[in-house]
Amino acid sequence: MFFQSIMNYFSSDLAIDLGTANTLVYVKGRGVIINEPSVVAVKKDSKGGKKVLAVGKEAKEMVGRTPGNIEAIKPLKDGVIADFEVNERMLRYFIKKSKGKHSIFKPRIIIAVPHGITQVEKKAVKESAIDAGARDVYLVEEPMAAAIGSGLPVQDAVGSMVVDIGGGTTEVAIISLGGIVHSVSVRVGGNKMDASIAGYIKKKYSVLIGEGTAEKIKIEYGNVYSAEEMEQANIAIKGIDLITGVPTSIDISTEEIREALKDPINIIVASVKDALEQTPPELASDIVGSGIMLTGGGSLSRGLDQLLKKETGLPVVVYEDALFAVVRGVGMILDNIDLLSEVTME
Ligand code: ADP
Ligand code: MG
Repeated sequence: MFFQSIMNYFSSDLAIDLGTANTLVYVKGRGVIINEPSVVAVKKDSKGGKKVLAVGKEAKEMVGRTPGNIEAIKPLKDGVIADFEVNERMLRYFIKKSKGKHSIFKPRIIIAVPHGITQVEKKAVKESAIDAGARDVYLVEEPMAAAIGSGLPVQDAVGSMVVDIGGGTTEVAIISLGGIVHSVSVRVGGNKMDASIAGYIKKKYSVLIGEGTAEKIKIEYGNVYSAEEMEQANIAIKGIDLITGVPTSIDISTEEIREALKDPINIIVASVKDALEQTPPELASDIVGSGIMLTGGGSLSRGLDQLLKKETGLPVVVYEDALFAVVRGVGMILDNIDLLSEVTME
């Protein structure tokens, strides 16, 4: 016991939420010490080699502002690893940064990975972590971590439903007795919402806006539930006029933003309904009582809880720290040996 606690002290075990939009790292005994965008800025040399210039926040600032030979890469696109090499560099960077100088022993690392990743991708994530100095690496599926982090009774013999809406994907899972009984995953999340806003403005006004601007509009003015008393604020948006090619400003209404978000939001709602329809009856009746837990940054979309409530007839709760549910979950697994052996996967 004493030896174990000394080991833990020196090895600073890590729990990582490797998200498509954000990577968060929890260090045992220290809490969440990293919360940065999953972005890597690389410079390509003439031989096709890649040099990492920046990772995380610094790299995200570069998105859309980089000269030709510098590229800002999001290695986890749509919930799958789109760029193995860059993903490995990013993971290593975050692990090194979290390990601390005092660690004599190699840490154990738990990583939450998208539900849909393949065996090859799992192996790649494990190997990256081992290369970066891990002693043991455990993988857990993101929806499971989200459910644990948001306090759902995953180990009980009752059905719980979690909907984790990230940047690249929405994962709906029904969990019981420490396992995912049924799940639905769609490659629609916050990124598609941003793209829909940009696409709408381009089509209707012939104005080009960047990814970052679209995300800001979504977060500040988005509201996906149409209540009659909704205010009709006009929002000034800066972009490039596609016809004249010069910077311009246009006014759009919150109603138009809701219209722009319709497609991705409808896909998310349909994925939840889909999962409910395919849930075994006993578990479905549990969920009718306990409702739906929403986690992930996309679940903060204003009005989404009301919309889902209306569409499913079930109680819907947005986890209070939606962006932290997964990392909190992996952190709890790290601190609980029983949970570790029950919910991690091969
Ligand atoms: P991932 O797990 O894929 O890394 P996150 O759970 O970190 O994703 O969520 C990131 C997404 O959440 C981004 O698309 C971001 O724009 C979106 N997001 C963050 N805050 C809000 C908000 N208040 N309203 C709507 N979307 C939000
Ligand atoms: Mg996530």
